Amino acid sequence: MTRAACGAPLAPPELMQYWLGELEEPRERELDEHLFACGACSERLRAIVDLGAAVRQVFLEGWLNVMLPEPFIRGLQSAGFQVREYELAAGGSVNCTVTPEDDFVVSYLRAPLTDVRRLDVLIDDSTSGQFRANDVAFDPAAGMLVAVTSTAYLRTLQRSQQRVRLVAVEGAEERVLGDYTFNHSPPK
Ligand SMILES: [Zn+2]
Repeated sequence: MTRAACGAPLAPPELMQYWLGELEEPRERELDEHLFACGACSERLRAIVDLGAAVRQVFLEGWLNVMLPEPFIRGLQSAGFQVREYELAAGGSVNCTVTPEDDFVVSYLRAPLTDVRRLDVLIDDSTSGQFRANDVAFDPAAGMLVAVTSTAYLRTLQRSQQRVRLVAVEGAEERVLGDYTFNHSPPK
């Protein structure tokens, strides 16, 4: 399918707000008119609608971390979102940041998951404390956990460290699959 390029493309975060009915008049009416006339932007709005509830959860509800399947991330990118990505091997660490242009920050945590039945994620954040997410969703064949961290939260951080541990749970037994360290600093 061909489509005319848009001279003033609507930014995905604003398209998202439009979809959620969160824009104020008269901006909402401006978008109505633009979308009516512009095939390129309507197509991106459709991509956002297709992403559905999960994107709403990440984008609006300010969750610290949400685990999502990798194809979902590709969907965000093809809808025009700016996605900052970090990939870590077990035992790895990374210096990370978030820029004003980033819509999402995604971490790929490599780990052997093929024989894991239940996966828990432990987070020790030097700014906001300790969390444990039990029985998170993951794809055993993917060899990694995909975590989306709230950019709204990351933007509040100064220098900060987030340590993440993936644990396989088998009955009363817990087995550490990997530790991952994020050394966050604000953009320079
Ligand atoms: Zn447009």
